[in-house]
Amino acid sequence: MQHFPVFVALAGRRVVVSGGGECALAKLRLLLKTEARITVVAAEAEDGVRKLANEGRITLISRAMEPGDALCATLFYAANDDEAEDTRVATIAHRECAMVNIVDNLADSQFITPAIVDRDPVTIAIGTEGAAPVLARAIKADLEEKLPSQLGTLARIGKTFRKMADALPMGRKRRDFWSDYYFNAGPAAIEAGGTDGIEPALHDLLENHLKTEARRGHVDLVGAGPGDPELLTLKARKAINEADVVIYDRLVTPEILELARREALMVDAGKEGFGKSMAQGDIDALIVEHAQTGAQVVRLKSGDPTVFGRLDEEIEACEAAGVSYRIIPGITAASAAVASLNQSFTKRGRNSALRIITGHDTKGYADHDWRALAQPGEVAAIYMGKKSARFIQGRLLMHGADPATPVTVIENASRMDQRILSTTLAQMEPTISNAGLSGPAITFYGLAPRHALEAADTLPQQELAQ
Ligand code: SAH
Repeated sequence: MQHFPVFVALAGRRVVVSGGGECALAKLRLLLKTEARITVVAAEAEDGVRKLANEGRITLISRAMEPGDALCATLFYAANDDEAEDTRVATIAHRECAMVNIVDNLADSQFITPAIVDRDPVTIAIGTEGAAPVLARAIKADLEEKLPSQLGTLARIGKTFRKMADALPMGRKRRDFWSDYYFNAGPAAIEAGGTDGIEPALHDLLENHLKTEARRGHVDLVGAGPGDPELLTLKARKAINEADVVIYDRLVTPEILELARREALMVDAGKEGFGKSMAQGDIDALIVEHAQTGAQVVRLKSGDPTVFGRLDEEIEACEAAGVSYRIIPGITAASAAVASLNQSFTKRGRNSALRIITGHDTKGYADHDWRALAQPGEVAAIYMGKKSARFIQGRLLMHGADPATPVTVIENASRMDQRILSTTLAQMEPTISNAGLSGPAITFYGLAPRHALEAADTLPQQELAQ
């Protein structure tokens, strides 16, 4: 981020605009939304600018800018539509310690003016650092359409009511009240009786909320999917959005964590296969403790929470503590990975079963029915299979599997840095070790990328860049 968005206090402060043409007028239209004291310095001013001066809305100094004109200015706009003149006036303003914006000159400006959606006191600023004005305009149009025009009125009246609402306990109770006001009771009151109806509606609403019992804590065991936020279910997204506490695993991506509310407590339970991690018992206790304070807890697990997620232990902890819970399924890593190969897990005439297995469990390398898996046409999705690759390869070959059986490893499935290794059982190791995989990876036994088989015949191993 090259520009950090802030809201500058301008009420009663001095803002100076150099220039009296259309370019200056466009800035003035925005600045006039504020309570700033605006001075325009321009040798020539067009009618629109002069009219504002006659109405007393701005002070017009009818001459070219001179040293001293930008003294005590909080903001300064060089808006002459003339590069040389803008550079000259900007130098003066710099010396006089104003923050300077040169219109249409991003590189030499100290601040830039965003696209604004105005529902005062709710103000939305959209900036693209000059990269995509078209995008900013489209986002603005979209928001203008989405946000009710009375939102500002609701917010203004709501603000005067904040002290009264303090009667509700802080946190979820108070938040529920405000959300009810902005999205239900407030708009309904305006519709029924105009803005005069808002205050009585607020009083009624507060009384109702004071009467209702505190909401009980709850735990959602949520599947975060393989990493791409677009692969979240709508239900998961909603739960994350409403959570007071989010307890997440190491494999949940930052883009997904971004979806939580800013006030939500984010707890990293980073369970790592062979590294440092929070003990499962501690995670169970944490989930329950938070729910017992009345919080809406989201336990966020990568992929689908029911697949190699130690879900039962967390469910049992909730049940033992009498805490309500719900499972929200997610897209498991295998589903995302197979899609990236343009393949299907099952295929008529090839395999009518799919095995989802783990390379290791709490006791070490996991044993499976290797004899059955070694049969022709079998397909398995192997989770946590990086470290156990040699063990799996050895077991399958020992039980008579064809060394030419395709093996495909997908690292970081669905993410920007996804990587696919296409090999065979015979070459599975050292291919996997040599690839230096650092992200989560899933191994498919008996499946190749759709068009890689022919290539794999000539090349013993092949890496497909994505
Ligand atoms: N519940 C998760 C699996 C948790 S076990 C799910 O349903 O996907 C962790 C293992 O999942 C990792 O070791 C890796 O084998 C696999 N995995 C998780 N995310 C992955 C991703 N984006 N790409 C490839 N494999 C992934």
